[in-house]
Amino acid sequence: MSRKLLEVKSVVKIFHIGGRFLGTKLKAVNNVSFDIDSEKPEILTFAGETGSGKTTLARMILGLEQPTSGEITYKGKNVSHIQKREELLEYMKEVQPIFQNPFETFNPLRKVDSYLFETAGNYNLAKTKGEKAKLVEEALKSVGLTLNEVQGRYPNELSGGQLQRTSVARALITRPSLLIADEPVSMVDASLRMSIVNLFSDLKEEYNVTVLYITHDLATAYYISDRIAIMLRGDVVEFGNIDKVMLSPLHPYTQILLKSVPQPDPEGTWKEDIKLSSLEVKEFSRLGCKFYERCPSAMKICEEVEPLSVFRDGREVKCHLYSEEFKKEEETLPGSF
Ligand code: SF4
Repeated sequence: MSRKLLEVKSVVKIFHIGGRFLGTKLKAVNNVSFDIDSEKPEILTFAGETGSGKTTLARMILGLEQPTSGEITYKGKNVSHIQKREELLEYMKEVQPIFQNPFETFNPLRKVDSYLFETAGNYNLAKTKGEKAKLVEEALKSVGLTLNEVQGRYPNELSGGQLQRTSVARALITRPSLLIADEPVSMVDASLRMSIVNLFSDLKEEYNVTVLYITHDLATAYYISDRIAIMLRGDVVEFGNIDKVMLSPLHPYTQILLKSVPQPDPEGTWKEDIKLSSLEVKEFSRLGCKFYERCPSAMKICEEVEPLSVFRDGREVKCHLYSEEFKKEEETLPGSF
């Protein structure tokens, strides 16, 4: 059996905006590759501004979108080739999503506990009502809730934090190996954010669950992640160990992002999310570096030549400043050391 839990190999996703033939081609995800070891649970963050491609990537891993090219495999099986009902059910059991807005995840007219019992029944994990209740109780306990607190309640009778915890509990009922959490704290009060992200750390430690954390909130990402990928207009521009990337960023975009990150205050609460400029189609369609217009270190080559990802100082970085060609040019400049 493959030691890799998840392998994403050269994945590209192209959307056609305004029609397949006359519209604009938008490369929402550009040649992204990474893998997750099955024996080393971790919290891997994909961070970037709106339109960076992180949610599209998450949707492809969940099988909700097909890659235009490249391959996503889970335990050695190509996710796009999963067609048989049993295989699909098994995949959905092991790879569970947690969505952004818990108030949209649950129907306001349906009692919250019915979702939990339904999940326990859907995957043939329990037959009797008593067995289902046991599974539901266990899952709720792992997120710090009890069945009494949610039983018979409608979504509006729970706080945002309680509802998001219930949504995590629902995902945990199937005992997944991988949670894909897309902006799971952005709709939760700032004071409750840390309790939800701490929950992910606990799940990793106690239940060996790997969490793919999709966010634009670098403060929470730094607090819980083992590795981080910084995305910009479909590209992973920097990827590696969280301390390496956050404490000594190499890519000019990561450096600028980090300047906008609020610092955690001593009480453990967090200030506003970082605000970044809106998506520009021009950046998506640029042949060279997508950060060219905004980069303080931009060079002539950056305008038309796409940089390659290179390995520098313990992380991958996609920038001409770190390419071999640039180093050679620098070495030959008169007066350079
Ligand atoms: Fe800046 Fe050029 Fe690096 Fe892009 S490739 S981040 S424009 S220096």
